[in-house]
Amino acid sequence: MDMTILGCSGSLAGPDNAASGYLLRASDGEQILLDIGPGVLARLEVHGRPGDVHMVFSHLHPDHCLDFPSLAVWQRFHPTAASTRRHTLIGPTIAPLHLGRAAADVPEIPDDFSDIFVMTSWQAPAADATPVPFSADSAGTVYPELRIGSTRLYAAPAVHPTESYLMRIEDASGASLVYSGDTAATGHLAAIAAGADVLLCEATWGERDNGSNPPQMHLSGEEAGRAAAEAGVGRLMLTHIPPWGDPEGALRGARRFFDGPVELARPDLVVGVGR
Ligand SMILES: [Zn+2]
Ligand SMILES: [Zn+2]
Repeated sequence: MDMTILGCSGSLAGPDNAASGYLLRASDGEQILLDIGPGVLARLEVHGRPGDVHMVFSHLHPDHCLDFPSLAVWQRFHPTAASTRRHTLIGPTIAPLHLGRAAADVPEIPDDFSDIFVMTSWQAPAADATPVPFSADSAGTVYPELRIGSTRLYAAPAVHPTESYLMRIEDASGASLVYSGDTAATGHLAAIAAGADVLLCEATWGERDNGSNPPQMHLSGEEAGRAAAEAGVGRLMLTHIPPWGDPEGALRGARRFFDGPVELARPDLVVGVGR
């Protein structure tokens, strides 16, 4: 599988970086878009096929979903490259109503996307459950399995002010990517990331939490590095750093705890996962 970073600016778009959006090409050829924040659709028009993507949401804060109504316009109305089949949409349970309102003509009547998407909700262990390392045994039992083509998707609970998920994606080649979405520190992150090829992990707070940040919200580079080390991932990629953030500090913090490869996500980067 490979991943093209369409945007990775934390909390909002930056001057030359869209907000969150990551395009996966699975080994079976399916395109799967993880989050679609402001500016992501424009980059998808460069790097992918907007009429032929499946949609996966970590959560529905604006910086992760606000280009979705425009994607729906493309899939429904593009004269030559509209959607020719219903794609899969996976997200929080609130996705149909929340996204429907974002695209509505009037707030009382949410748009209904069932003409272009089959909408499915994440299933995940309870937030207060003891984290269980991802393995052949826990896949499909502790972590309920969803499918897009031959790619398998699993989720665990994130710690964030809205319904949010950590996700693990494995394609038929065996390549595995874990994406944190937005989360504060939780044992579920290292658990679902166990042995993954790539951990794409937010590091919003820079090197370390300075103690004045809002609680239950985001991770620091140190916390991302600690999770990567505990999970034994192959590679750590730090993301979701806001335009005012400290990417070098995030790198420093992560490297203090994780001695494998660590790098910063950047727009237009294509990452080979599992190779
Ligand atoms: Zn965010
Ligand atoms: Zn968020």
